[in-house]
Amino acid sequence: MTPIPTLIVPTPEDKEVHKKFMRAALDMAETALRTDEVPVGCVFVHDGQIIGRGMNDTNRSLCGTRHAEFIAIESILRSHPAEIFSETDLYVTVEPCVMCASALRQLRIRRVFFGCLNDRFGGCGGVLKIHEGPGTDPRYPCYGGINHDEAIMLLRRFYIQENERAPQPLAKKSRTLKTEVLPFGEGFPRDRNFGNKKREMVKSVEDALAMQQLELSNGVPTPSPSTAPTSLKAAGEVHA
Ligand SMILES: [Zn+2]
Repeated sequence: MTPIPTLIVPTPEDKEVHKKFMRAALDMAETALRTDEVPVGCVFVHDGQIIGRGMNDTNRSLCGTRHAEFIAIESILRSHPAEIFSETDLYVTVEPCVMCASALRQLRIRRVFFGCLNDRFGGCGGVLKIHEGPGTDPRYPCYGGINHDEAIMLLRRFYIQENERAPQPLAKKSRTLKTEVLPFGEGFPRDRNFGNKKREMVKSVEDALAMQQLELSNGVPTPSPSTAPTSLKAAGEVHA
């Protein structure tokens, strides 16, 4: 079984602090949901203050890299030096993807707290462990499971609503909203096309991207991401 990120149970005081900042991240995700974006939101916290907020913006911008973390990072860098990230924590509703996990490491983020696992593209233990693997930039600790159920329910609400931006909107009204949520890490990884066996084969970012591309093409092999110009955009539409 793929190891899941360590969930450290904070002291009661700290736990309330973490939930408070995750609530602010969830509020951003709610805003994303209302605007037909995949509901992922985040806040960056420095010295007890929120210095940046972000929500997924890939559908509106038609740019697969406009993830919540990147939106907030850009906003912070407009008024702060990059060094601030080494004293800053990130609260994000869904585990950062491989791309964001790498950017956070290069920025030397202090800690990452997230809600639910990203079992397709996670870079903090869900698929790859970018936060603690080999590299020249400092590793950073990740703590998952903060307001986990709410993060999952937001994603479920998104996937049952109609995508009004699609050329031919898919009617999803017949779908029902499941409300049962397994505890953090339980039932993970899910038994899907890239379940346990294939997941074990993932050894590198290139493998993950190839796997992602294969999944997006419904199992039909396509050219590698480097030769498929639409791959990043397509990935962004389903990325967290
Ligand atoms: Zn991301």
